[in-house]
Amino acid sequence: MALQNGAFERLQEEYSSIRMENERIRDERLEKVYSEHPEIKEADLKIMDLLTQKAFAALKGNDEKAVDDKIAAAKAEKETLVKAAGVDPSYEDRIYTCPYCKDTGFIVKSDGPAEKCRCFRKRESEILLEQSGMSELLKDNNFSVMRTDIFDEETKDHFVKAVDYCKGYIDSFDTDYRNILFCGTVGTGKSFLSCCIASELLDSYHSVVYMSAKTLFDTLAQAQFSRENLPEISAVRERIYDCDLLIIDDLGTEMTNSFVGTELFTIINERYNSRRSVIISTNLELALLRDRYSDRIFSRITGSYDVLRLYGPDLRNVL
Ligand SMILES: [Zn+2]
Repeated sequence: MALQNGAFERLQEEYSSIRMENERIRDERLEKVYSEHPEIKEADLKIMDLLTQKAFAALKGNDEKAVDDKIAAAKAEKETLVKAAGVDPSYEDRIYTCPYCKDTGFIVKSDGPAEKCRCFRKRESEILLEQSGMSELLKDNNFSVMRTDIFDEETKDHFVKAVDYCKGYIDSFDTDYRNILFCGTVGTGKSFLSCCIASELLDSYHSVVYMSAKTLFDTLAQAQFSRENLPEISAVRERIYDCDLLIIDDLGTEMTNSFVGTELFTIINERYNSRRSVIISTNLELALLRDRYSDRIFSRITGSYDVLRLYGPDLRNVL
């Protein structure tokens, strides 16, 4: 859905470089054939000349038939020369890394708007994953490695319900605006389920930013207080506000102070106003959240977040 911070433009530049490089390789190939077989070069020049004559004939309204015959004869002659020289007849073809979109990134359809090519979507998801900060994390945390055989009946039922909720959340992400607060003690699957959601949404080209609360507030503090105006820090700050899904992991483990309180409220409030989703996981119980932060944060969370309380065995040992 959303490539952020100039990534779309960077991707367009990538395509432009691919096209230029392929053009260079084609020119080199052509040069090589022409230097080794000047007769083929001659034949190509002759065809080009005849094509120009044809264009002029068309412009003047003259009969093109005579030129057409000469072109056909010149092409046949050239084919014989290419065959005799043992040259691959595709020597003058343009080179495309992606044959589907001819290295433009888009497929133009006659009956509708241009569509992103599969190669563009692949690069897009690679960039989204890179920007999410989750490349490593997602390898071991996704639905494909989930196990439910470690639960007893009651906790298993509960976990399966949470999984079903998460799958519904993913399916309706583009149509239902929802936020999640995962509560529960250490290792009950809060981060795991956050990652599962992130993984699926990244696969469907959504931008996701995942940060532990500590990293999130450290980054924001750096953006706020650093004397140097570091572009990469302000880019992260922008992503925190603009991404399709923001995941704040382990809220409550950071050093709490008035800066953290203000920033947390601003993030939650601004993303609420722009209908951009947030998932928060925390070991803190709701009452402790209120004590630790403020009434306004507490009421914003309880008013606009679905609370999923997780319990059960410590999943970190088995997942
Ligand atoms: Zn393509």
